[in-house]
Amino acid sequence: MKYCVSCNCGNVEVSVNFPHPIEKYQARECNCDFCRANGLAYLSDPNGTLSLTAKDPMKQLKQGSLQATFWQCARCMDIVAVTHSNHKETKGAVCKKLFEAKYLVQPSVCVSPKDLTPTEKLNRWNAAWSTVIDT
Ligand SMILES: [Zn+2]
Repeated sequence: MKYCVSCNCGNVEVSVNFPHPIEKYQARECNCDFCRANGLAYLSDPNGTLSLTAKDPMKQLKQGSLQATFWQCARCMDIVAVTHSNHKETKGAVCKKLFEAKYLVQPSVCVSPKDLTPTEKLNRWNAAWSTVIDT
């Protein structure tokens, strides 16, 4: 199932292709200071893909253990996705907020990646996040 949304100002387009309807997914709400301050929760499916397209280049933010990259629209400052690249691929999750505005999504569940070791975090992301593809 393909879903496409954009950031508040329309600069960044986010598309996901998930095996199930987006209404079935529970976003993971991260309880780190950064994500809480920004009210962020993430949607992904390990068997799905996501892609980001921006007219103006996006800002890349590093938080916490610096393993993940947060993608932010340089115009409206919406954070649209988070990604991590390993040696062979890029995995990522999209921000629920963007999809919530257009689709019905489940209430989020709370997760505490900050309590995980760096290795545990990578394993979690590899197991949960979608594959990032170029458009
Ligand atoms: Zn924007």
